[in-house]
Amino acid sequence: MKKALKALAIIFVAAISIAICSTAAYSQKIINNEADALAVYAQAKAFVARYKMSVPRDVILRLETEAQIQSDFSRQGRSGANVEAYYQPYGPECICIPEGLSETEFFATAVHELTHAWQSSACPMQDRSFKEGLSSWMTAQAYQSKGRVDLAINYLNYISRTDAVENQTVNKLNMIFRSKGIDEVINYVTSNSKYTE
Ligand SMILES: [Zn+2]
Repeated sequence: MKKALKALAIIFVAAISIAICSTAAYSQKIINNEADALAVYAQAKAFVARYKMSVPRDVILRLETEAQIQSDFSRQGRSGANVEAYYQPYGPECICIPEGLSETEFFATAVHELTHAWQSSACPMQDRSFKEGLSSWMTAQAYQSKGRVDLAINYLNYISRTDAVENQTVNKLNMIFRSKGIDEVINYVTSNSKYTE
């Protein structure tokens, strides 16, 4: 009974947050020039540093058009893949993000890719879904930090439909973070190479 009440309370709070988010006026600035992109990228770097995942290197930011990203993908043998941001570990090390995202989406995307940059040196030998679990958990944290619980929920719903292990990892990290904090999250992800119960 207590559990059911707790679940109801969580749903209720989430519903209120969504209602607030959809009525409040959010900045819908679209990021399509380098100066704006670098300003939001700096915020994203500060955000990952607060979560103790700062990257001790200067990772280049590339703002590209969808067409440029498609041509990067065909060079990488991924032609036909959806236009999406990516982290490239070398040649040169960089984060590439498409133009045209809203400021909040750009921020959350940069946080996701900066987390991959941190993983590439802190815990490079990981199962793909487990690795994505941490980066996607950080994406959700980034949305929430901007008051966009609705976007965090949408994002996590998408993961729950597409990758079971990634979804389990996100849930586990949430649980560890709430009960023990970020140090234990870092400890868990750096001492495991795949999802463990
Ligand atoms: Zn990723």
